[in-house]
This record gives sequence, structure tokens and C-alpha cells, in this order.
Amino acid sequence: MEFRVGFGFDSHEFTENKKLILGGVEIDFPYGLKGHSDGDALLHAITDAILGAIGERDIGELFSDEDKRWKNAPSEIFLKKALELMREKGYELSNLDCTLIAERPKIAPYKDKIRENLSKLIGVDKDRISIKGKRREGFCKENGIVCMCTVLIYRA
Ligand code: MG
Repeated sequence: MEFRVGFGFDSHEFTENKKLILGGVEIDFPYGLKGHSDGDALLHAITDAILGAIGERDIGELFSDEDKRWKNAPSEIFLKKALELMREKGYELSNLDCTLIAERPKIAPYKDKIRENLSKLIGVDKDRISIKGKRREGFCKENGIVCMCTVLIYRA
């Protein structure tokens, strides 16, 4: 069996007049995340982790923010493409470990919903997906959200 690991990072600033979407789940919060697409920094980090694991080009190269097709696009599109490329190469996803760093909103009440949604999108059991919420404890500005993700994939 061949294993590969991938790492993804993304950060987006808060913006007004946009819904906050993380892991495809709408979060009750007065600000959304700035970005060409729906701004789902968690799905962007996961997508980049998968693309990294298979040695593909990154999310910014595959889905340019100058391309009108991705304007306000749901980020599931990017994740689905990365999964398709991964499966074309014969790999399956073993597990995902994600950390969201944000002073606000609180991630804890949404963790399970996000895990359930990711489990459906990716087609793996919920116990293979971890979502952790962390705070910056005052060392950095509080105007956005940072997401990091590690993925393990395997080919039998
Ligand atoms: Mg992004």
C-alpha cells in the first residue's frame, strides 16, 4: 500500500454583506470571508491538502480568481475536482485533520455539523474527519479566519 500526506493552509479576512461558510456549513455570524468564491477557507485548505498529496498544481492555479466562473462559486466545486483528480490517480482518502484559528465566531457548536457535511462531500466516515477550533490568544489581529489541514491518502 502506498501512502501520501498533504498539507493545506488558507486565511481569509472578514467582510460585510457575505454569509460565513466553513466546510460548506453556514455559520451564524455578522461577517463572511472575503474572496472571489464563497470564501470557504476550510474547504480551500482541504482542497490544497489533497492537491498537495497527489503532486498537483494548487487551488489558485487550478481555479484562478480572475476566472468569472468561480465568482461567488460554492467551494465544494474545488473540493470535488481535487477528489476527482485524487481518485483518477487511484488514491482514496484515509483521514483529514483540520484546525481553524479564529477569535470569533466560536467553532465548537459547528464542529459536528461541519464533520457531517465533509463526510458526505468526501464519502468517508465522520470518524475520519477532525475539526479543531483554536484561538490566537492575543498575538495577532482578529479580523479573519485561518484554516490548516493535513490529509493522508492511500493507494491499495
Ligand atoms: Mg481561499
